[in-house]
Amino acid sequence: MGLTVAEKLINAALVDGEMKKGNRIGIRMSQTLTHDLTGVMTYLEFEAMGLKRVKTDLSVSYIDHNILQADFKNPDDHRFLMDITNKFGIICTKPASGICHQLHLERFAKPGTSIIGSDSHTVNAGGVGALGIGAGGLDVAMAMAGEPFYIKMPEITKVVLTGELPPLVSAKNVILEILRRISVKGGINCILEYTGPGVATLNVTERATICNMGAETGATTSVFPSDEITRQWFKAQGREQDWVAILPDEDAVYDSVIEINMSELDSLIALPHQPDNVVPVREVAGMAIDQVMFGGCTNSSLQDVLSIAKILDGKTVHSNVDAALYCGSRQVMLESMRRGVIDNLMCSGVRIMEMFCGACNGMGFAPPTNGISLRTGPRNFIGRCGTESANVYLVSPEVAAASAIRGRITDPRDLGLASLRYEIPARFIIDESMFLKPSEQYDDKPIRRGPNIRPLPEFEALGEDISGEVLIKVEDDITTDHIVPAGANFMPIRCNTPEIAKYVFKVIDESFAERAKKVGSGIVIAGHNYGQGSSREQAALAPRYLGVKAVIAKSFARIHLANLVNFGIIPLIFTDESDFAAFEQGDVISLDTALLQEGTPYIVRNRSKNLEIKVGSPLSQDELDIVKVGGRLNWIKIRNS
Ligand code: SF4
Repeated sequence: MGLTVAEKLINAALVDGEMKKGNRIGIRMSQTLTHDLTGVMTYLEFEAMGLKRVKTDLSVSYIDHNILQADFKNPDDHRFLMDITNKFGIICTKPASGICHQLHLERFAKPGTSIIGSDSHTVNAGGVGALGIGAGGLDVAMAMAGEPFYIKMPEITKVVLTGELPPLVSAKNVILEILRRISVKGGINCILEYTGPGVATLNVTERATICNMGAETGATTSVFPSDEITRQWFKAQGREQDWVAILPDEDAVYDSVIEINMSELDSLIALPHQPDNVVPVREVAGMAIDQVMFGGCTNSSLQDVLSIAKILDGKTVHSNVDAALYCGSRQVMLESMRRGVIDNLMCSGVRIMEMFCGACNGMGFAPPTNGISLRTGPRNFIGRCGTESANVYLVSPEVAAASAIRGRITDPRDLGLASLRYEIPARFIIDESMFLKPSEQYDDKPIRRGPNIRPLPEFEALGEDISGEVLIKVEDDITTDHIVPAGANFMPIRCNTPEIAKYVFKVIDESFAERAKKVGSGIVIAGHNYGQGSSREQAALAPRYLGVKAVIAKSFARIHLANLVNFGIIPLIFTDESDFAAFEQGDVISLDTALLQEGTPYIVRNRSKNLEIKVGSPLSQDELDIVKVGGRLNWIKIRNS
């Protein structure tokens, strides 16, 4: 039986287990990436392991999230990252060199490699035929230490693309259409693999856009084949030697199929506050807007900037609209400048920002109170933009540009524009002037740490009898943004656990942290897809710091589930979903961890209601053992003692 592209990538990296659906498999990750928001904690974790150098083929640290330097905290983090990466043999990019996923695609990702990143959109690398997987920082630290990364062998969904994108309906609409069809839960435990004749009509950054937002379906990753189009991209990046062809075998077998005729795609828009809340643009056309953000790791490529510039050419941004552009990298910025595009955009009234994630997660450019913001990024969770009352809509760069001109949500096809043709340059401008290459040898210079970088908290083993109060009961699709907030006020304190813990669940319940601290031992009850969205491990670490011992949910998002294990919180799943109704905030629950075994049903006691509820564990025995000893760092210490 032949192999799919995804199976070929996994097979090449497989070091433990058999590639059978649902089996637990260990993969050696050849590359790692981190960014400043997750990286500080990741490198503290790596440091705690006592190794002198990373064991990967390549590790890169990007500084692209916490860029605003309003006080000492963010620049202290940047300095820490530059010091510690030099010591451990990791490339570091200086602040605002570009968004990690765009930069990694341009300079480092290779077809056939396996890349683990402490950011859920590491899947972006699927655009060049690499296996990109997002994970919590501790899993990335483990990969840097040469440890395998474990996942359940996912199902492989064949996404057959036919036809060609219509004029002014760009690649973002492909992934919005998939989200419309399968929802933010539809990709869980799946890899989305793109095939079909339509693939040859898409260039690498269009493919990366589609892979990037595959993260929003919950998919483990997304992948395109590496073909002649990919080779041209590597040649233009001066890296043709990094290219290899990776195509699916003709007799490859897939678990399910999604068909998309791109010629029939409409201009689509994701309404607040979930990326799968997708409707045709015409359903909301005419709604007045306050703000447009061009950029984010989904749509900050050269093609995106050129499309925006062509639509705005000779026109100005509407007087009611504040519009800003974040190019994805210095390469994108320099190429745009070479073409005179940045001048034109400035003359059109677009604010030109630095090359970083920017407003996507609220690091500046927050909308006004109750503001309507159109964004080309991948996420629109409530409060993520920094303004809780704002409504964020996700669109393609073309819809964003047309709407910026009219001051109202607009389908670009209503502006009477010609098709936007784009050819990748024969040779991109290569700029690595802000890449810091590490010392050849382990460097014993002291690492400079600011006062906001606090040591990792230590947790005790869970003990056999756990009793705790239900601190909060939440519905489906709770994101890590709900658990630990984004925004310029909160992101700089992510490496200070006692501080960030004060804001756990703030978006839903301001009193959570206070109550949790008072109770000392707590349980969270949740609906489906708990922990959706970003990979931030603080969404497990900070609740654990506040005494949360278990989360009982209808289902979990993959990365968050792994983070709960890493920080010693027991994840349990309702056997019968109707039992969700049997819990209320304030109920006292007891668990006997000694009885927790892989594959064995397990009873949770609701002592307040005198009920016994059957639940299951989604974990393997190894993972259960890690949770019981208080998390992965404790487990490593025990293993190495
Ligand atoms: Fe940056 Fe937004 Fe992409 Fe996260 S989702 S990597 S914050 S651009």
